[in-house]
Amino acid sequence: MNEIFLLKLGEIVLKGQNKKQFEGKLRQNVRRRMKPFGDFDVYILQSTVYVEPRSEDCDLEGAWEACHYIFGAVSLCRCRPCEKSLDAIYQAVEAYLGEDLECAASFKVESKRSDKSFPLTSIGISQEIGGRLAESHPHLKVDVHHPAYTVYVEVRDLAAYVHGPAEPGAGGLPTGVGGRAAVLLSGGIDSPVAAYMIAKRGVEIECVHFFSYPYTSEQAKEKVLELARLVTRYCGQMTVNIVGFTEIQEAIRDNCPEEYFTLIMRRFMMRIARRIAGNHGCGCLVTGENLGQVASQTMEAMAVTGAVVDIPVFTPLIGMDKEEIVTIARRIGTLETSILPYEDCCTVFTPKHPKTKPNLSEVERAEACLDVEALMERAMANTEKVMVRYDEADGV
Ligand code: ATP
Ligand code: MG
Repeated sequence: MNEIFLLKLGEIVLKGQNKKQFEGKLRQNVRRRMKPFGDFDVYILQSTVYVEPRSEDCDLEGAWEACHYIFGAVSLCRCRPCEKSLDAIYQAVEAYLGEDLECAASFKVESKRSDKSFPLTSIGISQEIGGRLAESHPHLKVDVHHPAYTVYVEVRDLAAYVHGPAEPGAGGLPTGVGGRAAVLLSGGIDSPVAAYMIAKRGVEIECVHFFSYPYTSEQAKEKVLELARLVTRYCGQMTVNIVGFTEIQEAIRDNCPEEYFTLIMRRFMMRIARRIAGNHGCGCLVTGENLGQVASQTMEAMAVTGAVVDIPVFTPLIGMDKEEIVTIARRIGTLETSILPYEDCCTVFTPKHPKTKPNLSEVERAEACLDVEALMERAMANTEKVMVRYDEADGV
C-alpha cells in the first residue's frame, strides 16, 4: 500500500491492566468508523493504531477526515510505508514528500527508531536522510531549530514509515470505556459542549430534552436534534428522549410561588432525567451548568436541584468562561446551530425575581402542592425517542 494512517494513542498508554481493554475498544471504534469508506485493516501495535486500506477503491480522504473525530487518538499521521533500509526510506521521502520539500525554504529530519535492531540510531537516520535530501534539493537549508518543514521517519517493527507534520487527533478516551451518561440537552450553546466534553472521556451518551409545545416550537425541537446529531460525529449514534414538559410547567405556573418557578422546573428535569438514566444504564447526569451564569446556577440553587437525584450530576463547564465555551462550540461545529433564535422551555414562565440563594426546605414547601409522581409518570409516558447519527460517508 502506498499510504497508511497511524493514529497515536493518547492517555491509553498510561493505563496499566486496563490497557488491553481500552485498545480493544479503540480498535473496534476505528473499524466501525472506517467502514463507510471501504475495506481497511485496523490493528494496534506499539501504542499506535494502524489504518491500512486493503483495496484501491477505498475513500482515503473521507477516512482521513473521519479519523479526526475518533476519541482516544492524540495525533494522526498520513504515511508512506517502506522497507527498513536507508535507500528505501530516502526514496519514500522523495516520492511522498518531495513536493512539500520543493515548496519549503528549510527543513529537518526527525527520526524515531522503535525497532532497536535497525543498525543506525535515530540521530544517525536523520543525518543520513537529511544529508541526501539537502543534496538533491539544493535550495533547501537544514535548520534544526526552526525548520519550515519537518520530515518524520519512524522505523517500527513491521516497516519504516515516512510522513510530514502530524495533525491533532480528537484526544480523550475511546468511546465506550467510561460507561454511559444521560445528558440534559437544551438548544443553547452550553449543553452540546457539555455533551461533547463528557463523551470525550470515553462515555456513551443518551440525551434528554424537555419540550413545551406550544410554548416552544417544532423548530426548537429540530434544532436540538440537529445539535445531538452534530455531537454524534464524535461519539457515535445516540438516542434523544424528547419529554413533553408542558403540563409540568403549567402546573408549576398555576400552583407555585413565582420566585421558585425555575428551581422547581429544574428539579422536575433532574428527576425525569434520573429515571431515564436508570432505564438506559446511565450512571450519571450531565448538564451545561456554569457557576454564576444565571440565577439557577449558584451553588445554593444547584444544591437544591441536585438534591432530587441519587447519582452524580456532572457539569463539565462549571468553571469555564463563556468565551472558552464558545471557542469549543465553534471548534466542534455546534455554535452556528446553537445560536439560531428558537426559544427553550427554560425561558417560558421565567420569574422576574428568581431566588438565587434558595434553601432546600423552602423549595420543598413551595412544590408540596404538586403531585410530583403523577406529573412525572405522565411526562415519562409522553416521551418520544429519536435515534440520531452523523452520516460519515456523506459528511452530513
Ligand atoms: P444551555 O446553553 O445549555 O441552554 P444555559 O446557560 O442556557 O445552558 P439553562 O437554560 O439555565 O442554562 O440550563 C442549564 C442546563 O439545564 C442546560 O445546560 C441543560 O443541561 C439543562 N437544560 C435546560 N433546558 C433544557 C431543556 N429544555 N431540555 C433539557 N435540558 C435542559
Ligand atoms: Mg438554556
